[in-house]
Amino acid sequence: MNKADHVINAVILSIGVGVLLAPGMNQSPYSAIILVGVPIVIGALFPDIDTEFGTHRETFHNIVTLAVFIAFPIYFENLFFVWIGILTHYVLDLLGTKGGLALFYPVTKHVSVPVGVNVDSSLARLVTLAVTAFELGVVWLLVEYGYGSLLRAPGVWNLFTSTF
Ligand SMILES: [Zn+2]
Repeated sequence: MNKADHVINAVILSIGVGVLLAPGMNQSPYSAIILVGVPIVIGALFPDIDTEFGTHRETFHNIVTLAVFIAFPIYFENLFFVWIGILTHYVLDLLGTKGGLALFYPVTKHVSVPVGVNVDSSLARLVTLAVTAFELGVVWLLVEYGYGSLLRAPGVWNLFTSTF
């Protein structure tokens, strides 16, 4: 996806996640949106740094980058939600490009899905909004069924390390 779609996805996701997590975090919805939104937007913009440094959709579009951003909050007690931005960037690039991304870099073989649309497609914005809605649905389900803590870095780290 292009930068505008990543920003639109991150901002809507931030508002939704903030509102959904606010009660559990004892925050007003407004402060919760800032608390989760700043890290999510930072995470959503980070991977495309590899357009300038490294190889695009390889160097910073992979499992290792995601792991670093899940581990960072645990070591530095900061940016607990930044990994959500990284992950949603990958999802949008999987569905919003034809070429996919090198999820298992330095193995440079790109992972892609057959239903992806091209970045320049007129459907790209629609795909972005559909992905965002789907992601918010997942977040809503997690919160509704008491798994909201998985969205914060230590929770997802345990899940991630038991998967990989
Ligand atoms: Zn990207």
